[in-house]
Amino acid sequence: MLLPEALDRFVCRRCNLCCRQPGYVYLSSAEAGAAAACLGLDPYEFTEKYCEVMDRQRLVLKKLPDESCVFLTAEGCAIHPAKPGQCRDFPVKWRTPRSLDYCEGLKQL
Ligand code: SF4
Ligand code: SF4
Repeated sequence: MLLPEALDRFVCRRCNLCCRQPGYVYLSSAEAGAAAACLGLDPYEFTEKYCEVMDRQRLVLKKLPDESCVFLTAEGCAIHPAKPGQCRDFPVKWRTPRSLDYCEGLKQL
């Protein structure tokens, strides 16, 4: 059980394992627009190329067959300055019990 005081000390170790997990990164239209601008694309082009629509209404980022996010590169996140809130908020604002198994920053709290 992680206490809020412990989470205050969280430091990301840049292992990028959170970008390789099963599940989806959901993003709003505004977040898609910001990520598109970060890549110099228009929002329509961005969503066509990098997003899927879940449940006929929610945008998610595409994934590679090994479950990695389409934006994960050897240098880290290709849209880091404009990554969706779901990514920015992990793991301090949300996490799952399984996050403790892989997140290097959580393991060191
Ligand atoms: S958008 Fe960036 S931070 Fe978010 S899962 Fe993809 S690679 Fe990771
Ligand atoms: S798994 Fe944890 S330590 Fe690794 S990049 Fe993600 S947030 Fe940072």
